[in-house]
Amino acid sequence: MTQTEIEVLLSDAEQSLHQQFSALDKIEQVNFARVMDAFRAEQVAVRHFAPTTGYGYGDDGRDTLEQIYARIFGCEDALVRPAIASGTHALALCLYGLLRPGDILIAGSGKPYDTLESVIGLTDEVGQGSLKDYGIEYRQVDLKDNDVDVEELLRHLDEPRVRVVALQRSRGYDWRPSLSVKRLGEVAKAVHEKRPDVVVMVDNCYGEFVQTIEPTHVGCDIIVGSLIKNPGGGLAPTGGYIAGRKDLVEKCSYRLTSPGIGREVGSYLGGYDRFYQGLFFAPHVVMQAVKGVALASAVFSKLGYAVNPTPQEERYDIIQAIKFEQSQKLIAFCQGIQYASPIDSHVTPEPWDMPGYQDPVIMAAGTFVSGASIELSADAPIRAPYTAYMQGGLTYAHVRYALGHVLEHMTRQGIL
Ligand SMILES: *Cc1c(COP(=O)(O)O)cnc(C)c1O
Repeated sequence: MTQTEIEVLLSDAEQSLHQQFSALDKIEQVNFARVMDAFRAEQVAVRHFAPTTGYGYGDDGRDTLEQIYARIFGCEDALVRPAIASGTHALALCLYGLLRPGDILIAGSGKPYDTLESVIGLTDEVGQGSLKDYGIEYRQVDLKDNDVDVEELLRHLDEPRVRVVALQRSRGYDWRPSLSVKRLGEVAKAVHEKRPDVVVMVDNCYGEFVQTIEPTHVGCDIIVGSLIKNPGGGLAPTGGYIAGRKDLVEKCSYRLTSPGIGREVGSYLGGYDRFYQGLFFAPHVVMQAVKGVALASAVFSKLGYAVNPTPQEERYDIIQAIKFEQSQKLIAFCQGIQYASPIDSHVTPEPWDMPGYQDPVIMAAGTFVSGASIELSADAPIRAPYTAYMQGGLTYAHVRYALGHVLEHMTRQGIL
């Protein structure tokens, strides 16, 4: 394709998304108002940004940030900590906080995110202290017709030892739909009608601020996510959160630090300004990312590739999957994204054998915050049908620019 043809394709794709983009702007406004209201209600002031040291007793910046998260997510309480290293860490913390030996964990939306397999104890590794090592059992209810199989899930609840039902909002890196907040609420209601004592936990990674409500607004008990994804707004340098019912968050706090101490300790020398400012930006940044991946969906579907979600589909997370059918195309796509990244644009990503994966994996990420996937990034296992998963983008202009680069790069390789 020539430069002109690429620009026409991008403009046409953009035109076709006009209505979606207006709807996304409205979502941003609703979410921004909720964030702003929480800042005002908690009377955020410059003193909240101050770094702390040692035990961190009375760390006002930390505690206030947690109250703001609880308000935004419409729930009683939250833990929001730089010391939570990643989304997986936050999810593990939550599971270990809530489950006890002899309890049963049910994954209600099929196989959970890859990194949780080691946490649950589904891999061959032994002795790392997986849930299985602690005598916590696992059941899985697979999706049926791309949706939660509520009937089958409820059948599993006949077993009194079931303590937690875990649901995943995002598609993650699977060719399946993500779950809407409305649907998560329906599932939570069905679970609670049969077993009010069972905790409905949601892996909320990649979902925050994509819709105007969060799972905790519709009856889910506890949600978990990463701060270097949506709610960090691209500025939070690290961290994770757990938000939900007070008694459940408290249990998690004893796992975060220690029984008897819980949430009272935890200092952060880096200061909290980036967590606050990132949260302030998050409703905007998330919509920039969603518009960007919607454009990618429109562009590649116009070029004849299978995409998930389709351009006009309502979005419940920030991920876009594109089926390339040929490894060379997939690799060129990821390389094009890398060349158009603000950091490490001079680096050419190659597939490599990543620990824990069956097939070689290629990753494109040139991010300010290391590994932050609210920033534009793409990854894929080199395996048929050669599907790329892309997400993020701090600004729509960046994603649009990157797509132009990708098309140019693929053209140069003679595969477009
Ligand atoms: C990102 C993500 C996680 C956690 O991944 P980390 O890389 O550990 O932050 C878990 N579940 C889903 C659906 C995710 O998108």
